[in-house]
Amino acid sequence: MEFGDRGMKIQRYVQLYQIAQDVLGDNLVKHVEDDNEIISEWISKEEWLMLPLPSERSMNEAKNRMEPNIYVSIDDDEQNVVIGLDANTLNSVKKLKNILHEFHNSEKNYLLEKISQLDDSFSTKVNSKIKNNHFSQRPDYKQEFLIQSNKLDNDSIEEMFIKVDEIRKRGLNLMQVKGTSHPIETPNIELVSTKFQNDDEIFKHKLQVIIPIFETCINIKTETSLKKIEKEKVVFVCTKCKEIISKSEFTQDPFCQKCRSILKRTKMKNIDESYHLRSD
Ligand SMILES: [Zn+2]
Repeated sequence: MEFGDRGMKIQRYVQLYQIAQDVLGDNLVKHVEDDNEIISEWISKEEWLMLPLPSERSMNEAKNRMEPNIYVSIDDDEQNVVIGLDANTLNSVKKLKNILHEFHNSEKNYLLEKISQLDDSFSTKVNSKIKNNHFSQRPDYKQEFLIQSNKLDNDSIEEMFIKVDEIRKRGLNLMQVKGTSHPIETPNIELVSTKFQNDDEIFKHKLQVIIPIFETCINIKTETSLKKIEKEKVVFVCTKCKEIISKSEFTQDPFCQKCRSILKRTKMKNIDESYHLRSD
């Protein structure tokens, strides 16, 4: 195949894909032997490289997955490369937010620990993806939140998702005001991204360090699964005060602290809406 000036860059993407296969292995990136498939399917029109999951058959499928995707982008002068872990659809942003659910506390701590170990070149961003005209137009991006990734902690990750919610609300509001069929603005999270010299060894290393972060993102549960888990949770209730006492709040005292009725052990799914969490 002949690509002219564009060819060098395309060939470099093929090399980087091959390196990525060595680093990520067959569980985290699709095994592709045919260079032409990499070129025709996994390099976008805008000339960035998608690293698809093994099960994905098309660029569209990879772009619309429920998890963030890993993209690779080479500068026009081919001096630098960017790797980003990006939640670019509403569904992937929503799912990523579930890391804040108490069920995922240990995953969140692990994620923050791994992010805090990244070098200073990594940054974390929230962008507003703006489509003023129509749903299928090429969006503009406006940066609304930025932090050096290794500074991300419990507070700033909360702050990051507050920003996400703000953008979402604003988009829905604009949709109503302007009467469009699509939200004008939607949130986009670049969980980590880094720019570095176009070099095999550096590329390997930068990809290596984001593996645990990517894996954690893949394992975050959907809202539906979290709701199911929630329903199976064992709690104690006072049938008189209609209070729910979580397992962790339950002391060995079998009686309600307020009315002294005996507490009943049950599951969340067995209680109706008249019950509420205990407020002290
Ligand atoms: Zn009571």
